[in-house]
Formats: sequence, structure tokens, C-alpha cells
Amino acid sequence: MKVYVSVDLPPDLADKLSRVAEIVGRDRMEEAEAALCFRITADEVKSMPRLKFIQVITAGLDHLPWEVVPPHVVVAGNAGSNADAVAEFAVAMALAAYKRVLHYNERMKRGEYSRDLGIPLVAGSKAAVLGLGEIGTRVAKILAAMGAEVYGFSRREREGPWRFTRDLMEALSGAKIAVSALPLNKYTRGLIKYEHLAAMDPEGVFVNVGRAEVVEKDAAVRILRERPRFVFASDVWWGRNDFAKDADVIVLPNVVATPWVAGGYGNEKVWRNMLEEAVENLLRWIRGEKPRNIADRSDYV
Ligand code: NDP
Repeated sequence: MKVYVSVDLPPDLADKLSRVAEIVGRDRMEEAEAALCFRITADEVKSMPRLKFIQVITAGLDHLPWEVVPPHVVVAGNAGSNADAVAEFAVAMALAAYKRVLHYNERMKRGEYSRDLGIPLVAGSKAAVLGLGEIGTRVAKILAAMGAEVYGFSRREREGPWRFTRDLMEALSGAKIAVSALPLNKYTRGLIKYEHLAAMDPEGVFVNVGRAEVVEKDAAVRILRERPRFVFASDVWWGRNDFAKDADVIVLPNVVATPWVAGGYGNEKVWRNMLEEAVENLLRWIRGEKPRNIADRSDYV
């Protein structure tokens, strides 16, 4: 079994994989039956005629060149490997904005010491969690434990301390806090439009830790201009890692911006865990077991 590895693996993980498979690089990728990658290009996929399995290091699979991945190739993502970190971050963003911590921090530094805004309670408030996956269910449980009335939106019903709905508008209507942990796929691209954001509480907080393209950029800008007390807090951006492309949004006073640090980019231990879990899942496939997080190709092509 030959595996094309295009990510830097720590020596112990490379050793673990080498015990059951031969790791090959670019020069011998045409022999590979499996690939372990962070990103993979269309040319790389086309250069591996024997390919049967792709293990991706990231939870999101939107960056794959799906149009050239043959239907018989099984693709596995890595959801769960960074979910604790991302869920914590999403809740931190939501609370820092909703509880007006950021607002008062900025005012105090400017020497403005008056109490101009009241502090809303999470307990008893409606919160929406979009995407009841590894991240979303963690966020929903934390908000529910704080006493929020949580609505959970996904396609497949999942039980938990939330009211499940497949109706995005039902989830967001009147919500004071909304957290999107939706993956980017052909169904979620541009899913969140102006009317959805406008249905939320005018002083609500929308947090995005999934992928930026799930929200229409123009819709976000419009709501932020119309509602100065509405907050849009995001770790993910339409320009991906080219954050300057979204400077027009980032500079708005009611935007809370972080540079994609909720998961592996923000913490070495989280990155290490992502690598470990990806290798473990690849080993499952090599042993003939069913890997976790197998992608549904029809979500992407
Ligand atoms: P999961 O795969 O565990 O969860 C994704 C959830 O979204 C599932 O519950 C799925 O449920 C739901 N979903 C998918 N498509 C739709 C749809 N069309 N409509 C409604 N719900 C949908 O992934 P994670 O929770 O681990 O991660 C989610 C995303 O967060 C990743 O795909 C990635 O893009 C992003 N992410 C961002 C990070 C960061 O650093 N900011 C780090 C890690 C992940 P169902 O199929 O039943 O609808």
C-alpha cells in the first residue's frame, strides 16, 4: 500500500503510518492508492490513477477539486478533530459581543466611562445554531446550559437540548444569538441572505465560524449599515486567508473580526490533534475498517 503524503507529518506519526504503508512523495505519486493532504490540487488528483481514498486534514471539504475526483474515490474529512477549540471560540465571540464586553472595552480605552448600554442575558434568550455537527452540537449544548432557548438547524434531525428545525427562518426569527458552524457545500453557499439576518433581533449577534461564503457578503454589509447595534462576528472571510480583501467589512464598527484562528491555525496542539486523527482515520481505511467522516459527494458536485 502506497500513500501520497503532502503534509508535514511529525516523525512519530510518519513512523506509525510507515509501519503499514509506504509513504511516497510527488516523484512517485502515480503509485499511490491513498492520499493524506491538507490541500490537494486538481493536478495532484489527476496524477494518481490508482487513487482510492483521500484523507483530508481539515473538517471542511469545500476546497477539494471535486470536479476531478473520480466517483469511486472515497473522501474523508476530519470533523471533530478541532471541534472543542472551534466551539469554545464561537461561544467566546458570541458572549464578548452579546454581553457588550467589546463595546465597553473600546469605550473605556477612549476614556468614555458612562454606562450607555444595558447588558442582555443569555438565559431565557433565543439562540440559533446552524449546522448540528461536531462544532454546532457543542455550541448548542453550552448555550443551552446557560439557559438559552436553542434552535438547532440541520438537514438530519439530531436530539439534544435544542428545538430541531429544518426551517432556517424559524431558527433565526427573533434570535439574539446565532452561530453558524455550517460547512460550505453546494446547498449552503449563499444560504444566509439579508432576510435571514433581518429576521434576527435588531441588537442580536451573528457569529460565523464555519465558512464565510455561507453568508451573502452584500447581505451582511447591508444589515450592518442599517442596524448599528447588530453585531457580525466572524473568524472566516470571503477572501479566505487574504483578509485584506474583506477590509471593507472588517472595518465596520459593528463587526468583530478574527483571522481564522478558531481551529488548527490558532493552536499547535489542535493542529497536532488534527494530524493524529487524520492519520488514525487513514489507518482505519488501510485496515479495511470504515473511516469516519466520509463525504457525501453529492453535497459538492
Ligand atoms: P460536521 O460535518 O460535524 O458538521 C456539519 C453539520 O452541518 C452537520 O451537522 C450537517 O448535518 C450540517 N449541514 C451540512 N449541510 C447542510 C445543509 N445544506 N443544510 C443544513 N445543515 C447542513 O463538521 P464540523 O461541525 O466539525 O465543522 C463544520 C464546518 O466548520 C466545517 O465544514 C468547516 O467549514 C468549519 N470549520 C472552521 C474552522 C475554523 O477554524 N474557523 C475549523 C473547523 C471547521 P446534516 O448533513 O444532517 O445537515
